[in-house]
Amino acid sequence: MISMRSVDKHFGALHVLKDINLEVPAGQVVIVIGPSGSGKSTLCRTINRLESIDSGDIAIDGTPLPLEGKGLAMLRADVGMVFQSFNLFAHKTILENVTLGPIKVRKMNKKAAEELALSLLDRVGIAAQKDKLPAQLSGGQQQRVAIARALAMKPKVMLFDEPTSALDPEMVNEVLDVMTSLAREGMTMLVVTHEMGFARKAGDRVLFMADGEIVEDAPPEQFFTQAQSARARDFLGKIL
Ligand code: ATP
Ligand code: MG
Repeated sequence: MISMRSVDKHFGALHVLKDINLEVPAGQVVIVIGPSGSGKSTLCRTINRLESIDSGDIAIDGTPLPLEGKGLAMLRADVGMVFQSFNLFAHKTILENVTLGPIKVRKMNKKAAEELALSLLDRVGIAAQKDKLPAQLSGGQQQRVAIARALAMKPKVMLFDEPTSALDPEMVNEVLDVMTSLAREGMTMLVVTHEMGFARKAGDRVLFMADGEIVEDAPPEQFFTQAQSARARDFLGKIL
């Protein structure tokens, strides 16, 4: 579903992604962990072309990433992304936040988009807040709206970049629960997170990144109990 071959990326002199090769089959949940600055966010952002790459190939569901125009808009609709900062439209209601993409990009009529949005808001537990503005919701609620908004585009893949790290601790689980149910329903997901309980429970694979490279790629239990590299063991020692 996600295919990256020999992907390289620099920011100026800084080599941030070094020969990344990654195949994520449909339905798989891949957890990405690693030290700050190792390239995790950049990896996510190249997958929906928020960042360009210097060389290599990236394809989603067999289709190479388009560079611009309509193809790029469709790619962004197929690849849902949820960020650390919720990035909701501040002056639109919760319902409008979720219907905007389906109406504009998927060309859905307003009524159908609202029905879809309400069912998704219900699923993430915030249908009752539909007429509020984002600022009137808690961080955990806003992040669940962000997930509903991405799902409304009926994406093939969901990318999550530290979706819970800006949240107060008591709100982390309400977001992780939504992600866990998505994973169980078979969504293909790439999740940058340091929530190791979630990684164990929902992850099929853990990638450990360091200095722009994928240093380890293993099932969660194997990674947590017998990481091969000193860098991964050192990192785990600090966070577990
Ligand atoms: P964190 O855990 O702190 O989120 P990360 O693993 O997500 O880190 P990236 O954000 O991908 O790391 O950054 C990788 C490297 O690229 C870092 O050294 C960062 O400073 C640098 N970098 C990221 N974005 C840019 C940019 N737009 N311009 C220049 N350098 C950048
Ligand atoms: Mg990051």
